[in-house]
Amino acid sequence: MIDRNLCIGAASCIAVAPSTFELDPDNKAVLRRRSAPPTSDATKRIDLEDQAIDDETLLLAAKSCPTQAIIVFDEEGKQIYP
Ligand code: SF4
Repeated sequence: MIDRNLCIGAASCIAVAPSTFELDPDNKAVLRRRSAPPTSDATKRIDLEDQAIDDETLLLAAKSCPTQAIIVFDEEGKQIYP
């Protein structure tokens, strides 16, 4: 998920994974989902537009975020990053 309060719209996550993240009109990153509306909520991978994103890329995107606004959970809901 993405913490909207932390996101500064730096867009490094989009540079790493453009088919998974996009900026909303408020310049905050949201997850691209197959069905609207885009959201930064905890989203199951199956709902993501880009289901092909692998864990490594997702983690890389999270690590690229200067404010650590991208919080990554595993399937059991355990926080992996940061
Ligand atoms: S890298 Fe972080 S701060 Fe930049 S747009 Fe993505 S979530 Fe927001």
